Amino acid sequence: GHEVKSDIEIAQNAKMVPIKELVNELNITENEWEPYGHYKAKLSLSLMERLEKEEDGKVILVTAINPTPAGEGKSTVTVGLGQALNKIGKNAIIALREPSLGPTMGIKGGAAGGGFSQVVPMEDINLHFTGDIHAITTAHNALAAMIDNHIHRGNELKIDVRKIVWKRVLDMNDRSLRNIVIGLGGSLHGVPREDGFDITVASEVMAILCLSKNLADLKERISKIVVAYNLDGEPVTVRNLGAEGAMTLLLKEAIKPNLVQTLENTPALIHGGPFANIAHGCNSVIATKLATKLGDYVVTEAGFGADLGAEKFLNIKTRAGEIKPDLVVVVATIRALKMHGGVPKNKLDEENVEALQSGLGNLEKHVETMKEFGLPHVVAINRFIHDTDEEIQTLTSWCEAQGVKVELADVWAKGGEGGTSLAERVVKEIEQSSNNFKPLYELNQSLKEKIETIAKKVYGAKDVEFSANALKQMESLKENGWDNLPVCMAKSQYSLSDDPKKLGRPKDFVIHVRELKPSIGAGFIVVLTGNVMTMPGLPKEPAALKMDVDGDGRGVGLF
Ligand code: ADP
Repeated sequence: GHEVKSDIEIAQNAKMVPIKELVNELNITENEWEPYGHYKAKLSLSLMERLEKEEDGKVILVTAINPTPAGEGKSTVTVGLGQALNKIGKNAIIALREPSLGPTMGIKGGAAGGGFSQVVPMEDINLHFTGDIHAITTAHNALAAMIDNHIHRGNELKIDVRKIVWKRVLDMNDRSLRNIVIGLGGSLHGVPREDGFDITVASEVMAILCLSKNLADLKERISKIVVAYNLDGEPVTVRNLGAEGAMTLLLKEAIKPNLVQTLENTPALIHGGPFANIAHGCNSVIATKLATKLGDYVVTEAGFGADLGAEKFLNIKTRAGEIKPDLVVVVATIRALKMHGGVPKNKLDEENVEALQSGLGNLEKHVETMKEFGLPHVVAINRFIHDTDEEIQTLTSWCEAQGVKVELADVWAKGGEGGTSLAERVVKEIEQSSNNFKPLYELNQSLKEKIETIAKKVYGAKDVEFSANALKQMESLKENGWDNLPVCMAKSQYSLSDDPKKLGRPKDFVIHVRELKPSIGAGFIVVLTGNVMTMPGLPKEPAALKMDVDGDGRGVGLF
């Protein structure tokens, strides 16, 4: 066999065009952008204002079946489809999330697509990029410092130090920071209390940045963040502390979307990357919206499988950003379907048509969900080298028998060229299929009804069981007037149920709602169905062990 190049080797051989050429091609004028080096740019918010009245391009959302722990290639297919659309003569642009350094150092390595469908400069995008995540970390921690300073200076707001819900953040996987004690050392050094760190992408500031329409909206949302409760049990907000101005100032550059390119010079906006469990898991509204003004076709993605990422894109992000989706691409892999059919992780490379067939229920459910949303959809088979012709044939025939549109995507191995049939199919379906898109619930429904709608219509659950605690919290959320917000479900990404071991298409299961948490600035109520880790740890052999810099200052080992 021939040698397979690593993602970083392919990326380092990319023929990038200088960013100013890309900007010119997009008809962006001089004062509407700023270079960040030769291959990255920030686009000004004035650009959005100028283009506001322009017609929107078509929005294609890339989602997936429930994944294996390695990921099923949503980013890869998103980049590949964008390249392929340009190959068939369409004006396409990509909108993606920014990678977080925690998982990069831990297990995931790079998160900028893969093979011949990547965004570049890959090293920059995966490391510090344009500093957005740093800015979010700082804005978040400035608020934390102001809370503790307020308490140290006499606590006029009567903050109950046992009910502070604003922790510190860091963009690293560091389990030793999950639970800490601060303020030790005596009266000059603050008031001692228990605290902890989350990873930056789990910060509400990240979710807010990604849902804001402009600077004014950003500031308004920040001012509504609930940081603690006072001794009477009433919420204390950022507005009460007067921190919204400083936090918005710290984010004034981070709110501008970043422009880069793919290996084939397709423009890509990479902006924001909130967690897909306790937040909504999509790139910023500003980037998606701007992409619809700059391109005729926008390809964007949402984290995890369609039960989480697509559900939140369609119920939360479309409302916040007034975004109208045109089509959903559901990425399926032979590997993951075999896993859903019972094959253990170390045997996924071996042909197993029978297991593939028994795993198809998982894909079937996600396709049904897209019908529930009233959206045209196409299944994309992300081809891996171990997939056999018979396996691919089995999956294709099953789709065709069900009347489900399906195309093979070979974009990891071949770049845009490997995705032209998918691109043509997507264009055709957008033109010919009827689009009856509607979110699955109305905002004025009760929190309980919203949660039950998602559990039954998206997960296929029989029922929802609420803990006594969750029921009590729903009451107090209602008393605070927060029950008219959308819900943001935090659930295992591996299963349609809340039990990661129930693969395929589980039936007759119950979803267990343990706890609810208000993210009032972001504008949703987080619903926790299990334990969600908001500060990951490093694995036994972190990806960091393979990383290095060579004699010429080039990165090594970023996958
Ligand atoms: P997701 O966005 O679903 O998490 P990614 O696109 O980031 O998935 O892909 C996860 C990993 O799998 C990346 O390292 C990528 O290079 C690799 N990958 C994706 N598609 C393929 C493929 N068809 N063949 C081999 N490796 C792939």
